[in-house]
Amino acid sequence: MGTADLHIHSTYSRDATTTIRAILKQAADVHLNVIAITDHDEVRGALEACKLAYQYGLEVIPGAEISTKEGHLVALFIEEVPPIGLSLVDTLIFIGKAGGIAIAPHPFNGLPHSLNMESVVGALTNARAKAVLKGMETHNMGTQAFDSTAQKLSIYLPLAKIASSDAHVYWAIGAGRTEFDGQTAQDLRRAIENNATRPIPYDEEFSAKAIFSWVRRIALRRFGYASDTASASQPINTQKLSQSFIRKLRKK
Ligand SMILES: [Zn+2]
Ligand SMILES: [Zn+2]
Repeated sequence: MGTADLHIHSTYSRDATTTIRAILKQAADVHLNVIAITDHDEVRGALEACKLAYQYGLEVIPGAEISTKEGHLVALFIEEVPPIGLSLVDTLIFIGKAGGIAIAPHPFNGLPHSLNMESVVGALTNARAKAVLKGMETHNMGTQAFDSTAQKLSIYLPLAKIASSDAHVYWAIGAGRTEFDGQTAQDLRRAIENNATRPIPYDEEFSAKAIFSWVRRIALRRFGYASDTASASQPINTQKLSQSFIRKLRKK
């Protein structure tokens, strides 16, 4: 049995506060077998993580959280980001051509950037899009107060049930996990495609302390700081992002 967190943001997302190495270290420390790094319309961090993952004893699925015209879509097993702002169906077809699959993140909650029922059912009635849209988050730690519609509707939809953290801070990684038979990324992919995953939701309410810590880290990120670590054996600390990284982020 393996566990995965399939929705994690790194410093390649401008609103996230964890470097690639800090994500890998934390994911290993909380005993995840597989993670997906899913930055907003960005895959460079995920590809970096794929190369480093062996040092941490886990597997990384390259992915991204794509801004479609109808809302966010988590793409997995892709090395190229689809154009921003396509319809959900066209984005799914692009992901399929690139060899990937997709998960509807934080759906049906009425929040901005969330897919609604009409969009998801519309995609499922298109054979090429249906072959790619394989999962939905029934639990997203960041939107947990709004997830009940997704949980109810998931019973009727042919989509694997996924619990994810949507972590933008390092301590949230693994707070929302998906269990699957096997240990590897390919085992997980098979489980998602066969609608055979088990969501393990985060079972605590957000505490005031957690919210304060999150706000503090976002503020630090604005000033160029992030949670970082040099290696699997080094603790995670607040470090200034390097100028070369900041230049790289701008270059896109
Ligand atoms: Zn999102
Ligand atoms: Zn996200």
